[in-house]
Amino acid sequence: MVDLVRVRVAVDAPQHSGLTGPLDYSSECPLAPGSLVHVPLGRRSVAGLIWPSGPAAGADETAATAAQQALQPELRQVQQVVGSLPPLSPRWCELVDFAAAYYQRSVGEVALSVLPPELRKLDDAQLQRRIVRLHKVFEASGPVAAETAASRAEVMPSAEQERALAQLRVSMASPEPQVVLLHGATGSGKTEVYLRAAEQVLAGGRQVLVLVPEINLTPQLEARFGARFGGGSGTGPPRRIVSLHSGLTPAQRLRHWLAAHLGLADLVLGTRLAVFASLPRLGLIVVDEEHDPSYKQQEGARYSARDLAVYRGRLEQATVVLGSATPSLESWQRAEQGRYTRVAMPSRIGGGALPQVRIVDMNLVPRRAEAQALSAPLVAALRLRIERGEQSLVFLNRRGYAPVLHCAACGWKSACPHCSAWRVFHKVDRSLRCHHCGFTQAVPRACPECGNTDIAAIGRGTEKLEEQLALALPEARVARIDADSTRLKGALEARLDAVHSGEVDVLVGTQMIAKGHDFRRITLVAAVNPDSALFSSDFRAPERLFALLMQAAGRAGRDAEQAARSEMWVQTWHPRHALYAALRRHDFAAFAASQLKEREMAGLPPYAHLALLRAEARSADAARAFLQAASDAAACLPAAVSVAIYSPVPASVARVANVERMQMLVESSSRVALQRMLATWLPQLHALRSQRRGDGERILRWAVDVDPLAI
Ligand SMILES: [Zn+2]
Ligand SMILES: [Zn+2]
Repeated sequence: MVDLVRVRVAVDAPQHSGLTGPLDYSSECPLAPGSLVHVPLGRRSVAGLIWPSGPAAGADETAATAAQQALQPELRQVQQVVGSLPPLSPRWCELVDFAAAYYQRSVGEVALSVLPPELRKLDDAQLQRRIVRLHKVFEASGPVAAETAASRAEVMPSAEQERALAQLRVSMASPEPQVVLLHGATGSGKTEVYLRAAEQVLAGGRQVLVLVPEINLTPQLEARFGARFGGGSGTGPPRRIVSLHSGLTPAQRLRHWLAAHLGLADLVLGTRLAVFASLPRLGLIVVDEEHDPSYKQQEGARYSARDLAVYRGRLEQATVVLGSATPSLESWQRAEQGRYTRVAMPSRIGGGALPQVRIVDMNLVPRRAEAQALSAPLVAALRLRIERGEQSLVFLNRRGYAPVLHCAACGWKSACPHCSAWRVFHKVDRSLRCHHCGFTQAVPRACPECGNTDIAAIGRGTEKLEEQLALALPEARVARIDADSTRLKGALEARLDAVHSGEVDVLVGTQMIAKGHDFRRITLVAAVNPDSALFSSDFRAPERLFALLMQAAGRAGRDAEQAARSEMWVQTWHPRHALYAALRRHDFAAFAASQLKEREMAGLPPYAHLALLRAEARSADAARAFLQAASDAAACLPAAVSVAIYSPVPASVARVANVERMQMLVESSSRVALQRMLATWLPQLHALRSQRRGDGERILRWAVDVDPLAI
């Protein structure tokens, strides 16, 4: 009989099992950590990863192993070793270990969920064939076609870019891995700096990871990197670039992931999930638009790809570049403290000026409904653009025609029967749609309560704004870009093309149009009603608004010739608000300083550390009871001493699709204390969940969100 060895395997055990660490299995021979295997779990066979034996297995883990052994005195055996796949590196496993512990999820769940789904399905022979084919493709493609090389124009960096690069090179040469905060105005040419930093790292034989916040920004970046590196840069051979995001087919995702893992690809461009790409020679991580909330995963392990990138940089001895025109206050504060190196690029490339900001005081505008929507000076400014053959962009962060229908006779409003929200009136198909659960009905001819036929639309969304613009400017060609107008595949591209080719005078839309797109002929950007964020209960709302307005302003005057007359218009009822004053001066530093001061006084991040415990149930009482029980349980924990637990409150939209959502804030001035408390609290939460069985008080879901972005 063969001697069996004990191995630890990270498997994706169901969350409610409460198992957080790897499980023990037996194997006929020792297996390298990071190897992909198939093991039995319950009655199924699942994929798992051989996990390194940690320096010190935590108490929980020992307990879990003991529990497992009690259930199952004989270890079950590894069924198959996927030997064709080289093991994942110890540093990759360390990154997953950290992410799982920090975001309070099981190691197996995190490890398996960030691998391409195909990898779990294929057996060793199938994967072997895929890898052989991939090697052939990469060898056959050789140096990338000459046309790409020919299209590569040599760009000379500006003096400011040169200075930024010089600073960046100092950081990259440092023996200690560094984090660089590249604070560059919109249009200052940050991408060129990324390209040159990447060039240097690639020349040293290492790999580069570039993260972007949204999938629809990857093609333009891929084109830019492809043009520079695809045909071989000035100094080096052609480089292989792959992308990683959720828009790829499963087969593509597997190919791209394998190319990175096998070291065939030199550059990986991707969205937040790419922070977990396996890169054996990683030398540089770029996080573009590092302030963007899209970097935070909103389900499962709610990780921040930006924060994990910083951690990963330290693990891999790689430089991390965080780029933004409006950095997150967390990153800004670290730069202020000297923990990050700040590199500034305040000017636009080609000497173009930033747009002049004009604040329209809506208190002074005559109180006619039309006038309140679009003030006369703004309409005049838009008309001037049309006459000059220039384009304008008008944005409003609310889609649909009107946010609610209302009957003046009886007070009826178009509430969603399943959510604590109004159904939005969409005029295009005369529907009432709930933006939370999707519940849709035709608009009633008369008030469903009293039969009054005169029901009115209140407020305004992008559809109505589009209509109002067409009325105010009959000569204008108006196009709208929002989630509704771009639902069909290719619709977004078609509309963007129309803007680029000059077929549109005024572009209307939600924040979708404010991000990233490089519109050359836009000289006016207007925010018609941004005020609501000033008084939001979410403490991050002003930070997001400022970033959005700065980013939107950055859409104007990207062409240096037009920059001098480009303008950003803001219609507001609060013209003297500090946020608008800072916007007027394009003064991020002043805005950040005032916000940080407020946060410090209020004890909010980055001066405090937060976690949110969310619970969902059929009744608000059940959700509240679970949170209350959780709070009571925490009170007995020694680790809860320096942690404050607040009362359960309804989520900002309390009911969605007939599910009541409650949340409870947990706060500490010490990140370590908060982490320690969460680690001891979680097993109690699992136990609580399984105790509460009675139908009425059952909760459907619960989750811990560490460093939540919206509260
Ligand atoms: Zn009525
Ligand atoms: Zn609904």
